Amino acid sequence: MTEPTGPGHPEPRKRVLFLFSDTGGGHRSATEAMIEALELEFPGRFDARMVDFFREYYPSPLKFAPEIYPPISRVPQAWGFTFRASDGRNRSRAVTQISYPYVRKGAQRLIRENPADLIVSVHPLVNSHLMRAMRKSPRPYLTVVTDLVSTHALWFDRRADLVVVATDEAREKAIEYGIAEGNLRVIGLPVAERFTHPMPDRLAWRQRMGWRTDLPVILLVGGGDGMGPLKRVAKAINEARLDATLVVICGRNAELKAELERVDWRMPVHLYGFTTEMPQFMAASDMLVTKAGPGTISEAFISGLPLVLYARLPGQEDGNVTYVEQLKAGVWAPRPREVVAALRDWVESPEARRAASEASRRAAKPDAARRIARLIADQVGVHD
Ligand code: UDP
Repeated sequence: MTEPTGPGHPEPRKRVLFLFSDTGGGHRSATEAMIEALELEFPGRFDARMVDFFREYYPSPLKFAPEIYPPISRVPQAWGFTFRASDGRNRSRAVTQISYPYVRKGAQRLIRENPADLIVSVHPLVNSHLMRAMRKSPRPYLTVVTDLVSTHALWFDRRADLVVVATDEAREKAIEYGIAEGNLRVIGLPVAERFTHPMPDRLAWRQRMGWRTDLPVILLVGGGDGMGPLKRVAKAINEARLDATLVVICGRNAELKAELERVDWRMPVHLYGFTTEMPQFMAASDMLVTKAGPGTISEAFISGLPLVLYARLPGQEDGNVTYVEQLKAGVWAPRPREVVAALRDWVESPEARRAASEASRRAAKPDAARRIARLIADQVGVHD
């Protein structure tokens, strides 16, 4: 039901349907950031609705994509093969042709049950299905690409009214896959507003968390699902006894957290499960060790954190690694001993750490979510 927007704005609220899925944590984070930005830029003017299309509308086994994603991503070769085998214009078209009959009913029901003035997709696997499902009655459609650089062809359906990408590299890809330049915007990955708030007193925050205040803090994060060889990396850092505090965020990977709790730690260590306080964790830390997830990297840039990337999804996250390296905001360290070497440099040379931190901050796009919110508003005729 569309509600009026209040006395100042007699016209009804515009309904925006966000299509995402909890495959990893990045799609949800980006969606929530845009919804937050819509409310900040245009208070009370929008009704936003988030739909996990896999979970709510697709048949088995796709319905279980959020559960299937973490184990599959632990077999990087399989991931890389699937990514490359389905990438490219013709191949991605074939993927849609083959899969559409299977998801057609769900996609049509999704459209029927979620009337919207604008659909915003943050997932590559829904675009062409939906375009086919609404062939007879198309709705305004905006794709926000939540991969940074290596963007799969399935992101780019020419029938989308607008496509937002994060980098010039992704823009080139979009053009290669047939998106008209006029329908493309290079803006950045939407990140929650809280990352842009400076932390007034990081030592006080560290104290509250029980962290030592006299040591640099290494933050170790493996994406929303605590992925990649996080345990091996944590243990290698521990063996090296770096003169630092190690903070590990295991995300939704409860098993990993339980295993790490049994380790004989030789340096100050703090272990956490999934946190909703990532902005504070990043603001209070000095270095980030993570897999090359686009959301985490974009957040780290805003927080000015130098990055050690210890894992990536082949194909999908390859470009993120090169991107971070070219910006000199971090290093690629696929072996635990390389992670340790990179961290040792930064622990022992605050000057080198500062240079990487500044490079990281220079790459930040803190206003991306608000800029996309203004684009959404423009699409549906909402103005200040
Ligand atoms: N995240 C979080 N709490 C956690 C772990 C991760 O909020 O405990 C968020 C993180 O801040 C980022 C997202 O989950 O926004 C992970 O996205 P990314 O694109 O880096 O990787 P993905 O999990 O999608 O592979």
